[in-house]
Order: sequence, then structure tokens, then C-alpha cells
Amino acid sequence: MEMIIDGEGVSGEKIFTVRNPFNGDEVDRVPLAGRSDVERAIRAAHRARDAMADLSARKISEKLYDVADELKTELDEFARLITLESGKPIRFSRDEVKRSVETARLSAEEAGRLYGESIPMDAGIGGKGLTGFTVRIPLGVVAAITPFNYPLNLAIHKVGPALAAGNTTILKPSLEAPLSALKLAWILSEHFPAGAVNAVTGRGSEVGDVIIDSPLVDKITFTGSVEVGRYISARASMKKITLELGGNDPLIVMDDADIDSAVEAAVRGSYLYSGQVCIAVKRMIVHEDVADEFADKLVNITGSLRAGDPMDVRTDVGPLINEDAAIEVERVIGAAVEDGAELLCGGSRRGNFVEPTVLDHVVPGMEVIERETFGPVSPIIRFNGADEAIRIANGTCYALQAGVFTENIRTALRMAREIEAGTVLVNKQSTFRVDHMPFGDSGAVEWVRRVSSTP
Ligand code: NAD
Repeated sequence: MEMIIDGEGVSGEKIFTVRNPFNGDEVDRVPLAGRSDVERAIRAAHRARDAMADLSARKISEKLYDVADELKTELDEFARLITLESGKPIRFSRDEVKRSVETARLSAEEAGRLYGESIPMDAGIGGKGLTGFTVRIPLGVVAAITPFNYPLNLAIHKVGPALAAGNTTILKPSLEAPLSALKLAWILSEHFPAGAVNAVTGRGSEVGDVIIDSPLVDKITFTGSVEVGRYISARASMKKITLELGGNDPLIVMDDADIDSAVEAAVRGSYLYSGQVCIAVKRMIVHEDVADEFADKLVNITGSLRAGDPMDVRTDVGPLINEDAAIEVERVIGAAVEDGAELLCGGSRRGNFVEPTVLDHVVPGMEVIERETFGPVSPIIRFNGADEAIRIANGTCYALQAGVFTENIRTALRMAREIEAGTVLVNKQSTFRVDHMPFGDSGAVEWVRRVSSTP
């Protein structure tokens, strides 16, 4: 598939072969962009600002609605591409496309709602009788750098709102899974002026600096690992940036929790796309009085999950994105066992596949829970008392989302207040997310399900 620069397809001198993580088969080839390709894309986006400025908010909104419709029409093909490039089980790929349709529609809605404020000025000295007002104007050129794990949704998640606000864009998807993002960029570019949507495929380490250093790029929106986020943040200096980085989300299970629901949520949250999700449940913090029951039930369901070909609708767990990623997860599991964790099930690796794994008696300090483990691993950390649970939950540097299972409203409210996460979900796991909610380090507290007993 070609890149898009200034409304035209571009194939580079060097190419990269995209392989299916399930069987290593070639899926497609994409160009390996060089410095001059990226510079051309940036200049095209810079020039296209005028053409975007000619579009009314209503026109932009209509175009984004049309893009949403096309995504919906092409749901099957997008899902197939996502599964082939990323190894994501097809059921989940279909969910990703549906959510991308939703994201495009939300962007279309917001395009018509970019209001400013009117501010009475008489609170300031000399302001009597005066009224100020603000208007929103586009920033200019927005560069979007996206990871492999939600290759379509995270692309529309960035490019949709940027266009909605009248900006032009350069999308740089992950080389591991660039195809669905490129296909999306093609659809977008057919609706918007030439140069308003550009997409370049290349190694982040090679083309990233060209984007970060360019004075013509007004904003970088990045989703990916903490390491790369740190690098971009340090290098971008005064440029506007938005960073959505790694997670290590806890699921706290209190002694009064509905254990069956908690286990079901743990399974859902831990093994979704083999755990390669920023808001996957990565730590299960379970009260010691219910930990044996929780662990038994978790092992039972974990053992019944079906691993295999991600194209098969019955597959629950597919491969990791590549063998290096699988080797790393296997290493971290091994290190936890060496340090005293008990392996209840799983733990082995075959090629890119890591068996869904339950580890019990994990304690703070073990690498498997100190850093983000991007694989199908369920570490159980036992605690005794709410203070200890909160201390453990807050004991890492990550803070995306958290889930708490309890039937006690006081406990739920305390956890919601004291757990350092953007969102605390009560009786729901951290993978739950809707796009019109604030996300990330936003301090939002959501009640997804009412707790069933009152204190
Ligand atoms: P990654 O950081 O390796 O790569 C992300 C993107 O950055 C890719 O497009 C890559 O090519 C590019 N990149 C790499 N080096 C770069 C550089 N020096 N300059 C500029 N760009 C560079 O991440 P990944 O492995 O693709 O994705 C997994 C990570 O993403 C996990 O940590 C996960 O938690 C995180 N993630 C976060 C969210 C969120 O919303 N917070 C969502 C999804 C994934």
C-alpha cells in the first residue's frame, strides 16, 4: 500500500514487508519513508491550511460523517486488515472498527460545536461596560504518531478531532501494523483537500525527529510507550504535545465483592488482545479472604480460553505482535516465578504465542507488576485491608484507569477518590471506555454500575 503525500500515492525506494504475526505470511508492503518524504508531507500539510480554512464547520462535519459511513460500509475489510497486520482476534477487530465509526461520528459532531466564550470584563480594572469574547482557531499542522495495538481506532482518534477543528494532518502509524491506518488515510484524503491528510510509513527512530524538529509542525499527538513518549517530550521542547502512554491498571477485589463478576471482569480485562492494551488489567489486587476462590475461578476460565488463528471467530487469544515481544513476556513471567510468585497456569511460549498465565502471591517489587507487562498475564497480589490495597494500587508510576469490585458504597467512593488514576470504575474493569468521557490523567470518576448495596 502506498503512502499519501499531498493527495497522491507515494511508493518509496525502500520497502518494509508487513507480516501476519500468526503465521509470518506477507500481508502487504509499505514504503520506508525517508527524511525527504516526511519533509514533503509536512510542507503539503502546511500549504493545505488555506484550503481547510475555506471549509465551513458544517462542511467539515458532513465530510467526517461521510467518512464514518464509509468505515461502516467497509467494516469487514477493515477488520480483516487489522487481524492480518496485528494478530488481533477478528471479533475484537470488528469491535475496533465499530468504535472507529463512533469516533469519526463524534469528531463530526464536535466539528459543529467549537464554541468560544463571552466574558464580562467588569471584574477587571477599567472593564465596566466591556465584554470580551474568545474564538477557537485551528492550530495548523498536527502530526499524529500511533502504536500497533489499535491501529485504526487510534489513527481516527487523533486525525478525526484534528480535522474537526480545521487542522491539517500527518499520520505516522506503527510499522508493525500500518495498513488499516493507511486505508483510513486514503478514505479521509478523498474527502478533504489535497495535503490536508498525509500518511507516512517509516521507522519512528528514523522519521520521528524530522516531525519533532520541524517548525512547520504545530502540534504532536502521540500514543505509545513511556520510553518514546519521554523522548518526544524532551526533544519537542516548546511544541504543543499530547502524550497517551503506557498503563499498569489495577483491579481491586474487596472481600465483599461479587467474586464471579470480578473474575469475569478480570478475564475480560487481562486477555483482551492478549493483554496488549494500555488499559488492560495488569494487576489483580485481591483481598486475602477471597483470594483462593478468586484464583481458582480465574484459573478455570483462563484454562478454557481458546488460543489459535485470529481469523477464526472462536479464537479468544491470538499471538503477540512479534516474537521479541513474546520472548520478553516469557522472561518477565520466569523472573516472577524465580522471585517467589506461584505459577497457577500457563507460562510457556510457542513462537509469538504466550499462554494465558495466572501468577499468584505476586508482591510489589516484582518486575511483572512494576512495569507494564504487555502480554496475557494475570498477576494476583494479595492484600489485607483497604489501606494496603490503595497503597499497592498507587505504588507504580502509571495512572490510566482502575477497577474496584465491592458492594459497599463507602469503600467504592473512597477508592474512587484515593486511587491515583484518570478513571476509577466501580464493579467494572479498566478496559471499559467510551469516547465522550474524559480519559487518562483527567481525574474523572465514573460510576459505570451502581453498587448494589448501600452502607
Ligand atoms: P512505541 O512507543 O514503540 O511506538 C509508538 C509509535 O511511536 C510508533 O508509530 C513508532 O514508530 C513511533 N516511534 C518510535 N520511536 C520514535 C521516535 N524516536 N520518535 C517518534 N516516534 C517514534 O509503542 P508500541 O509498541 O507501538 O505500542 C505499545 C505502547 O503504546 C504501550 O506502552 C501501550 O500502553 C501504549 N498505548 C497507550 C495508549 C493510551 O491511550 N494511553 C493506547 C494504546 C497504546
